Amino acid sequence: MNPVELRGITFAYGEGELRREVLRQVDLSIGAGEIVILTGPSGSGKTTLLTLIGALRAMQDGSARVLGQELRGAEEAARVRLRRRIGFIFQNHNLLGFLTARQNVALALELDGSLDERARMERAAAMLGAVGLADHLDKVPAKLSGGQRQRVAVARALVGRPGLVLADEPTAALDKRSGQEVVHLMRDLARKEGTPILLVTHDPRILDIADRVVAMEDGRIVQDATASPAA
Ligand code: ADP
Ligand code: MG
Repeated sequence: MNPVELRGITFAYGEGELRREVLRQVDLSIGAGEIVILTGPSGSGKTTLLTLIGALRAMQDGSARVLGQELRGAEEAARVRLRRRIGFIFQNHNLLGFLTARQNVALALELDGSLDERARMERAAAMLGAVGLADHLDKVPAKLSGGQRQRVAVARALVGRPGLVLADEPTAALDKRSGQEVVHLMRDLARKEGTPILLVTHDPRILDIADRVVAMEDGRIVQDATASPAA
């Protein structure tokens, strides 16, 4: 079973006169361990699609099976459980400013409930080591560079061994080199665990991490192709 299987997803904001369809009949599958980049102009519906897959917003039409959970008609409780199995990375790292890098990452393990604090802090330190931040464990976000903060966000998203990673423009606030470093790290860590990634970007500099590139335009998928190795 594919980790993500979307059929006929249609979604509109507003009602009545103000109703505006922003996704139209979207079909998309993501296979086990696959890294898919979703690209397309601003306003084409990429973020809306990502938030539906991530169960951050209720579905309207179509069917979405994500990590075995059907989201059509799903209760809020089922959506909350699914969200805990997904690692999210956003454009702005969304780290808590009053916590250290290590505490921010450890926090992601608290919901799990099976690890005591010492084990959580150890796992967080190991994960930060894996993203090259072993020397910055006890720094608060303001003391880190943009690229380092986004690497903390990657560590936080992956530390709980999610079944799926959803990333929305994770390099938008970064220069070319740190952007590439961040996505390469994300790819290498996800590959090691066989974790599929859906990454939204219009940054052409990072297309090379993808197994497949899917392009959206005006709420529709207009291209879905296996990435060429030279891209
Ligand atoms: P993208 O991520 O590709 O830029 P979005 O999914 O953010 O596209 O937006 C798709 C369309 O939906 C845009 O026209 C946007 O203005 C509109 N939109 C996004 N969020 C909302 C919202 N919360 N309420 C109303 N319209 C929205
Ligand atoms: Mg967007």
